[in-house]
Amino acid sequence: MRIGRKHLMLDTSWQEFSNCLGVDPDLFFPERGASTREAKEVCRGCVVKDDCLEFALANGEKFGIWGGMSERERRRIRRQRALERQAAALTASAESA
Ligand code: SF4
Repeated sequence: MRIGRKHLMLDTSWQEFSNCLGVDPDLFFPERGASTREAKEVCRGCVVKDDCLEFALANGEKFGIWGGMSERERRRIRRQRALERQAAALTASAESA
């Protein structure tokens, strides 16, 4: 079956272990320019932080704090990973030539 988004990740079972259960969701979606410190503080000790971040990256979440990272920080990770994939593809193609 073809799915619209390339890396759509649907498993959200990790959420039941999250530190933010019961915390006001607005904290994780601050107004532009508002502080993200409090949300990141909740994320800091969260045992599912990595799952949360990977979920956001896989699903292209554009807004809010996920895995303790802001939208801008996640964009940086996506860019970095894309560069790494490009470099790996170039290396692989050079090795097979
Ligand atoms: S990392 Fe932060 S936003 Fe993600 S589940 Fe944990 S507390 Fe919630």
